[in-house]
Amino acid sequence: MTEAAANIGVVGLAVMGSNLARNLASREGNTVAIFNRTYAKTEELLTEHPEAGFVPARDYAEFAASLQKPRTAIIMVKAGGPTDAVIEDLISVFEPGDIIVDGGNALFTDTIRREKRVRETGINFVGMGVSGGEEGALNGPSLMPGGSDESWTTLGPILRSIAAIAEGEPCVTHVGHDGAGHFVKMVHNGIEYADMQLIAEAYDLIRRGTGKSPAEIADIFAAWNEGELQSYLIEITAEVLRQTDAPTGRPLVDVILDQAGAKGTGGWTVQTAIDLGVPVSGIAEAVFARSLSSHPEQRAVSQNLPGPRGEIAVDDADAFVEQVRLALYASKIVAYSQGFDEIRAGAAQYDWSIDLGKVASIWRGGCIIRAQFLNRITEAYDEQATLPVLLTAPYFVDALERAQSAWREIVRVAATSGIPSPAFSSSLSYYDGLRADRLPAALIQGQRDFFGAHTYKRVDRDGTFHTQWSGDR
Ligand code: NAP
Repeated sequence: MTEAAANIGVVGLAVMGSNLARNLASREGNTVAIFNRTYAKTEELLTEHPEAGFVPARDYAEFAASLQKPRTAIIMVKAGGPTDAVIEDLISVFEPGDIIVDGGNALFTDTIRREKRVRETGINFVGMGVSGGEEGALNGPSLMPGGSDESWTTLGPILRSIAAIAEGEPCVTHVGHDGAGHFVKMVHNGIEYADMQLIAEAYDLIRRGTGKSPAEIADIFAAWNEGELQSYLIEITAEVLRQTDAPTGRPLVDVILDQAGAKGTGGWTVQTAIDLGVPVSGIAEAVFARSLSSHPEQRAVSQNLPGPRGEIAVDDADAFVEQVRLALYASKIVAYSQGFDEIRAGAAQYDWSIDLGKVASIWRGGCIIRAQFLNRITEAYDEQATLPVLLTAPYFVDALERAQSAWREIVRVAATSGIPSPAFSSSLSYYDGLRADRLPAALIQGQRDFFGAHTYKRVDRDGTFHTQWSGDR
């Protein structure tokens, strides 16, 4: 073993860890120590990538000895219990001032708990969101580290060297302390759910409305990718729709079972938003749409329920496609606005100083929701860092103005034709809810006071009031 040869280490050499280790090793100045619970995987990586110059370790003591101080190790193991186990093992061989980074998909509250635990030992702990999947890990992910300022001093240059580059800028920033990085990564995933659901609804409406084939719709998405909707998700949607299934010759999208899976981060985003009192209805509808799709037994018994059967009479296909595009763009603005609202509320709740414009800018490369559009979000927060509602920024107001009538028409068409459009419709309802000068919440307060003496406030006087209702219980 070479003594203290490496400036960075990776623990966990499954697909994410081995790709991140290769990415690190490919950058000038890095020597990477590697450790995996099962040594055979370490050997495999060494054999397959001799060019990386990895420093392998068979146990944690050897791993620690191979790292220069302050020792810095990135954990990429299964989230949950395994991450806790690896943290304890590293604590046993690391020293105060060293840095443990968890790059797995941890729930931010676990990261807050772990940071507290590790800090007691004098070791730094950084929970880091890593986006971009295995391809991103290898070629440049979007990185969202939390943790202390001290750890960022050491980690910053290393992370900047491996992150994706967007418009000359590395897609990494010190998001905030303790769990801030994993919180922001969680919301990123929630927004990703909403974006994917909106795209799926747009595809469905176009297909039903125009009768175009998936390959023809692929051309539409490819064209959209040249304009304001330009994004990785729109780009890959065109690719998915263009794909033919070799055995049957049918469009692949028609032979894929229509039940969408989920790994849980979208659900976390919604659960957290509920705790924070932030309405992320677009993200919630996207999570629930996947749940609905994945209940074939309920869908089977519901096939004959009354209602229109998804047929739309469209006279002008091109005009209809343009209306769908505008509705998609408007709904997307709502979804991102809601996601950033959750980050704003999370930062206030957990006392993180998060630069929202910077968050948008590090999502421009490496991650699944990378898009031109994120520049507009950065500009909006650069203009007003404390913007209370992102979609009220002038650029978005203009876009929403342009999309108004198309958005409403598409939601109307979907509803009257029996086409599910949960994300389109809920985004519009949220938008109208924000705009309303008066909401029926007043009635709800009356009902609450009636049955539970929960009291209410008045529009014309300060104070708290209770009415002696005639039917009071
Ligand atoms: P994974 O399948 O989640 O985990 C496998 C790795 O965990 C192996 O190295 C395994 O070691 C190790 N491991 C499991 N239990 C362990 C334990 N009790 N003690 C020590 N090591 C243990 O791997 P992955 O798919 O590469 O993902 C790694 C992390 O990245 C996960 O947290 C995952 O959620 C996250 N992830 C992120 C993205 C993304 O896009 N950001 C994508 C995928 C995954 P053995 O070889 O010894 O079993």
